[in-house]
Amino acid sequence: MITTNTIFWTQIASIVAFVFAVFALYRLLVDQKDATIQSLKENVSYLKDQIADVKQQSPDVLAERLSKRMKLLEDELTKLGDDTSSTEAEVKAKEAELAHARAEAEALTRQVLHARELLQEYQCPHCGAPLVERAYHSESVEYQGRELDIDHNWSTFECGLEIVDGLERHRCRSGGSPMTRTLSRNQ
Ligand SMILES: [Zn+2]
Repeated sequence: MITTNTIFWTQIASIVAFVFAVFALYRLLVDQKDATIQSLKENVSYLKDQIADVKQQSPDVLAERLSKRMKLLEDELTKLGDDTSSTEAEVKAKEAELAHARAEAEALTRQVLHARELLQEYQCPHCGAPLVERAYHSESVEYQGRELDIDHNWSTFECGLEIVDGLERHRCRSGGSPMTRTLSRNQ
């Protein structure tokens, strides 16, 4: 026989069960969100390392802009993490933004590395000091009644290195005697 009392307790029980189910679902969502945010944070720190790398290689406007955007994304992620009302969709959107920024950072790193390869010709091979001047001239010489053109090239670098026709005429200061090495270190 069903009494009013039984109906009351059945209702209470189903409400309690519902509340527990909702809470469990909520916990699940929060855990998932935490995991996503954790992976996003790892992404951010990876990007920061990469940006630091790029900055070391070449102070670039792009790197600066990218690093500002990373800071912004990180702040947003922290806010998302603290805000319990933020949805999975919002976190996913941030994730997509980060993935995009990460691809950009990687492309930038590749560009910088490529540029550095190209620049190697314009740097001292010993210390990396920039090229100051490069000159070419051709000389006409007479050899066994014929006129020959001989090409000469001459490069000077900030460190004092002079290369004339592929030969080092003047040494790079950083690779010089111990005394000049000490001097250049104190500069
Ligand atoms: Zn040098």
